[in-house]
Amino acid sequence: MSRLLRTLSYAWPAPYTCAGLVFGLLVIAFGGSARVRRGTLEFGGGALGRWIGRSRIPFGAITIGHVVLGLDHLMLDRVRNHEQVHVRQYERWGPLFVPAYLLASAIAWMLGGDLYRDNVFEREAFDKARG
Ligand SMILES: [Zn+2]
Repeated sequence: MSRLLRTLSYAWPAPYTCAGLVFGLLVIAFGGSARVRRGTLEFGGGALGRWIGRSRIPFGAITIGHVVLGLDHLMLDRVRNHEQVHVRQYERWGPLFVPAYLLASAIAWMLGGDLYRDNVFEREAFDKARG
């Protein structure tokens, strides 16, 4: 990929990446840590990860621009392929990604499907992560 395209792929979803960094700093403030994997900043661990892990909240990781927040780094290793598909989706859709994702969930629900599993963005991520 050319340098210009690579730069644009980071700039286009940058508002989301900035929001993800704020959450990432919270992870750090509560004892978590950050790593760079495949051009993405991954945050995990610490008290927030332990608290969410013990709760009934069904959460493993979430991608916000070029930031991935996870329960811990083992979880981030496990879901990296899936979350990297979401990173590519953010690069493709930029600021439109979250509204498009929510619309896709609404359409899935209106068609009688599951908000998460039948969302076209999730289906792409599950399909590509499987290989
Ligand atoms: Zn996903």
